[in-house]
Amino acid sequence: MEDIGRREFITSLAKTFLFSTFPVNAFCKTLGNVKIELPAYSFQKYVIPGKRKGKKILVIGGIHGNEPGAYKAAEILSRVKVERGELIIAPRTNVVSILADVRGYNGDMNRKFQYLSRKDPDYERVQEIKELIAETKPDLVLSLHDGFGFHSVNKRAWGQCIVIDEEVYKTFNLGKIAKTVAENVNRHIRRRKWKIPVYNTHTFSPSTKHPEQKKSLTYYCLSKQNVPAFCLETSKQLPSLRLKVLFHLMMLKEFFKIYGVEISPDFDVLEKEVDRFLTPAKFYSVKAEINGRIVEISSKKTFHLHRGSYFKVLSCHGTEGTNVICKDVNLNWRSFHIKRRVALTLKDDFRKIFDFRVVVV
Ligand SMILES: [Zn+2]
Repeated sequence: MEDIGRREFITSLAKTFLFSTFPVNAFCKTLGNVKIELPAYSFQKYVIPGKRKGKKILVIGGIHGNEPGAYKAAEILSRVKVERGELIIAPRTNVVSILADVRGYNGDMNRKFQYLSRKDPDYERVQEIKELIAETKPDLVLSLHDGFGFHSVNKRAWGQCIVIDEEVYKTFNLGKIAKTVAENVNRHIRRRKWKIPVYNTHTFSPSTKHPEQKKSLTYYCLSKQNVPAFCLETSKQLPSLRLKVLFHLMMLKEFFKIYGVEISPDFDVLEKEVDRFLTPAKFYSVKAEINGRIVEISSKKTFHLHRGSYFKVLSCHGTEGTNVICKDVNLNWRSFHIKRRVALTLKDDFRKIFDFRVVVV
């Protein structure tokens, strides 16, 4: 139990209600409960036009929540300037799964691009991804992942490879592009296990061993939007997050070279700066409103609130991956009532920063 002591409890009560601008009676409709409101999971997207005209690349990260190499590499790219071409980045497409640090809190999002019920909790987000592709009409889509294992030593493993749906699809020579990227990247990789081969799932072939890939983002891009798309996979089993991000940047660099998209700072500089990008924020806090009173929370704390109160998280401060979740309820819920107590957690992506609690008295 992390409840505060009796004296603190009384102080907290006094602070909460004596200086509250909202009378408790105003909440008679929800009497018996405390309402908790958390910020919506936003769809992060960045459109970075270039100084000179050129090809347009869309980079998608975080479709799977427990793949930080993918979403951190995408986030790093969202901070660059574009010298030639255009860059569109959606670094954290599956925020709820990133904060839960699981592959798919609502099931596998990369199996939701063929058909999806409107009732699915991921429906809106999948639609937003589809609309982003339709609206921006990129020349190339790169979907970033940290897969399991190492494909060069285990052909059934998805980690550490470039996935293509076919060698050639319509006019897109996917195999040739992926092989060029793989060859150039592998020149810099000594360990055989860490080398990045091309993995062809032959998704369009009737005899494909991977019919499930017809539900994926890359298959959707090719078949419905007529855009070449690739999956860039590093391995979950690499010894550090830094290495996962580095391998993503190495692959991205080669794709960018082929498409003639130039960024500033360039990839060589980004690769040297990875550690700095991965350093947690110096200070994390939550700004909340309790019955009309604004409070700033920067460490573990318990709030004792009377029935009929509300506790609304207004904003979170830290990094772009910082948000509050409540593991005591369905993580898709961002507004709910509690009868007894609830623990809220401030997270920076997969990292837990601190807990704070709301107790109904
Ligand atoms: Zn993945």
